[in-house]
Amino acid sequence: MNDDIIGKLTEIFVRFPGIGPKQARRFVYFLLSQTSGSLQNFAKLIAELKTDINQCELCTRFFILGNKRVPICDLCLDPNRDNSQLMIIEKDIDLNNIRKLGVYNGQYAVLGGLIPILEKNPENRIRQDALVRNIEKRQADHNLKEIIIALSVTREGDNTVEYLKSLLQPYEEKGVKISILGRGLSSGTEIEYTDSDTIKNALLNRH
Ligand SMILES: [Zn+2]
Repeated sequence: MNDDIIGKLTEIFVRFPGIGPKQARRFVYFLLSQTSGSLQNFAKLIAELKTDINQCELCTRFFILGNKRVPICDLCLDPNRDNSQLMIIEKDIDLNNIRKLGVYNGQYAVLGGLIPILEKNPENRIRQDALVRNIEKRQADHNLKEIIIALSVTREGDNTVEYLKSLLQPYEEKGVKISILGRGLSSGTEIEYTDSDTIKNALLNRH
């Protein structure tokens, strides 16, 4: 455990995705090179993150609250979106990438993670309760026809697809089509880093 401020900040940056101790320390020294004013602005923005941004009760994505304090995000409430389709994705970045393609106009469910191989408590690795709640609500309200699983084609992604297939089986039996995007993508494909044409093709050719 580090007691000094450089050590404490380094420990925080090490927890960021993809950041090792060396990079974390470089971030701290970069901050030291900034003016007090820009650091105060940075700290203010971080402090505001949780008060200005809410997590949607339905799809669990993060959204900017603005003036209205609402529990459901603008996407879930958008009457122009196709409520017969629901796409399951891992994280907010993936959702934004798919949104930008402009070929999918359905609804979303953000899992918030993937399930590692041999995980004993898979339900704790993903936002399973929220996903089931989301599906149940859309089924009751809008006659849900298709659930599209759009996860990265990695070991964890494939493992999560297998888990979701059994979780979603009761809905499949009720006539909801379950499509998997990964079948059109080559192994190692991560939604976050894949170019738009590849994702677009995989989405249009899903089965
Ligand atoms: Zn939402």
